[in-house]
Amino acid sequence: MDAENLPVVVIAGRPNVGKSTLFNRLIGRRQAIVSDMPGVTRDRKEGEALMRGRRVRVIDTAGLEEAAPDTLFGRMRSSSETAVEIADLVLFCVDARAGITPADAHFANWLRRQGRPVLLLANKAEGKAGTDAALEAFSLGLGTPLALSAEHGEGIGDLMGEIVDRLPQAPRAKSRDEDEERPAGPLRLAIIGRPNAGKSTLLNTLIGEERMITGPEAGLTRDAIAVDLHDEHGEIRLVDTAGIRKRARVDEALERMSVSASIEALKMAEVVVLTIDATLGVHEQDLQLARLIEREGRACVIALNKWDAVENRSATRQAIADRLEISLAQMRGIPVVTFSALTGAGVNKLLPAVRKVYEVWNARVTTGELNRWFEEALEKHQPPLVDGRRLKLRYMTQVKSRPPTFVLFGTRAELLPDAYKRYLINGLRETFHLPGVPIRLQMRGTK
Ligand code: GDP
Ligand code: GDP
Repeated sequence: MDAENLPVVVIAGRPNVGKSTLFNRLIGRRQAIVSDMPGVTRDRKEGEALMRGRRVRVIDTAGLEEAAPDTLFGRMRSSSETAVEIADLVLFCVDARAGITPADAHFANWLRRQGRPVLLLANKAEGKAGTDAALEAFSLGLGTPLALSAEHGEGIGDLMGEIVDRLPQAPRAKSRDEDEERPAGPLRLAIIGRPNAGKSTLLNTLIGEERMITGPEAGLTRDAIAVDLHDEHGEIRLVDTAGIRKRARVDEALERMSVSASIEALKMAEVVVLTIDATLGVHEQDLQLARLIEREGRACVIALNKWDAVENRSATRQAIADRLEISLAQMRGIPVVTFSALTGAGVNKLLPAVRKVYEVWNARVTTGELNRWFEEALEKHQPPLVDGRRLKLRYMTQVKSRPPTFVLFGTRAELLPDAYKRYLINGLRETFHLPGVPIRLQMRGTK
């Protein structure tokens, strides 16, 4: 691969934050590339780095400030503009000892508008120095800052990992549970529910009668058949269909219903359809399964089946909605669809509901939006006193999706009472339209 095709990482930031020091760290003893790309100044420092086995082109924007306009921000901007344009990733350095300056904030605003991926670095954070500034750096709205020390070589390995993870076509080796971005391939869907809720019937209706009654082919047992459905958005893979059939054949007693079998199905799925026999209303076991879905962090659609056999539909719908609202507050707003798996009436509403909740499950809220809301939420209801002292909550950031997971930073944040956490989670759900998916809120205390 020639140098022009390597992924480009650009180091930006105001003078003296340690860009050149970091550049030298990343490049090590590797040869600097002489650039003759159009638009790239000759004296821009460029080099090739090896990170986790990948060759990466690193551009240092330091030292170009002199020739540019007179405000500091103007100089930062003009020295970085071209480089940022061609960057696959921008490393935005701030000085964790000096703290966030107005020039940093101004530059961050500009950088955010460039639409390039940015990794925020709090440099000069050797030892424990700079924790406050690192925290302050959240306010730049560029995500979680990574603390490091270019001079002392601290955090460089982690930085390289973070860089490689953000580059295009970087090989991904994360387990499914840790997935942060949606993987390629079909959406994985599981159908669970108590025995006799109508899971097999639903499966039959979804995939078509004839495929279900096909006997096992040579070398392939019926239980192993993977089922792919198609809708206008692409493929949906039904996982654990073997489990449904097995459980349908064994006439299990309700109380012996295998929760562990459901957990297996949940782990393989991204979205789970919880099938409920609407003629029986919502049972404690249905709620148990819903809580399992919440605990495993999956997206959920509730399917009220046997709607053909329900006599008073509006009363039934209301009664079930009330029960869910009270009993499953931690997943408020779960989509509910009603249908008859037996006749097929209404089953066409299921996959659109699945797609929709899948999008919510994958949702990302920017740190800027999040903290604008967060400030208002704090104003409306002050955090409570704990041991006579008010907790000081500072910043919030979304660390992952699938399900949406947020981290709240603040002094003694870990002492935050559950009621206040619920207040924040409900606010997040409403403000950022996250109905029907688990929301995680983690506390991170600072001194
Ligand atoms: P640039 O011009 O913004 O690229 O910054 P330099 O790389 O020239 O560094 C500016 C100053 O900060 C130099 O005196 C460096 O030795 C110092 N420096 C760089 N990285 C660190 C660090 O991690 N910790 C400390 N304490 N100083 C650093
Ligand atoms: P599973 O144990 O969850 O797989 O449930 P089945 O699919 O085996 O269905 C249990 C019983 O409910 C069977 O007798 C089905 O015919 C019946 N059933 C399933 N779906 C419906 C439906 O939509 N309406 C009615 N009236 N009966 C249904």
